[in-house]
Amino acid sequence: MSSRRSVCRGCGAEIVWVKTEAGKSMPCDPGAVPFWARPGAPGKVVTPLGKVVSCDFIGERDRVSGFGYVSHFSTCPKAKEFKRK
Ligand SMILES: [Zn+2]
Repeated sequence: MSSRRSVCRGCGAEIVWVKTEAGKSMPCDPGAVPFWARPGAPGKVVTPLGKVVSCDFIGERDRVSGFGYVSHFSTCPKAKEFKRK
């Protein structure tokens, strides 16, 4: 997987850019976390294969879907300012 580190222009947090299947780069929080895929779930992760998946971040350990990078848009305190653009 190709990713490069940088810093969020909104909140100054460290982020990584993760390439999605669609060929776009998505700003994500550094470090992969376990996720539980569920259609319509509020969370969004990008898997190491570049798939963007709706998910929960808590669930039963033995039913975990995999590990992925959390979209920084869902955690950034300044996310609203990005959307205004
Ligand atoms: Zn941010």
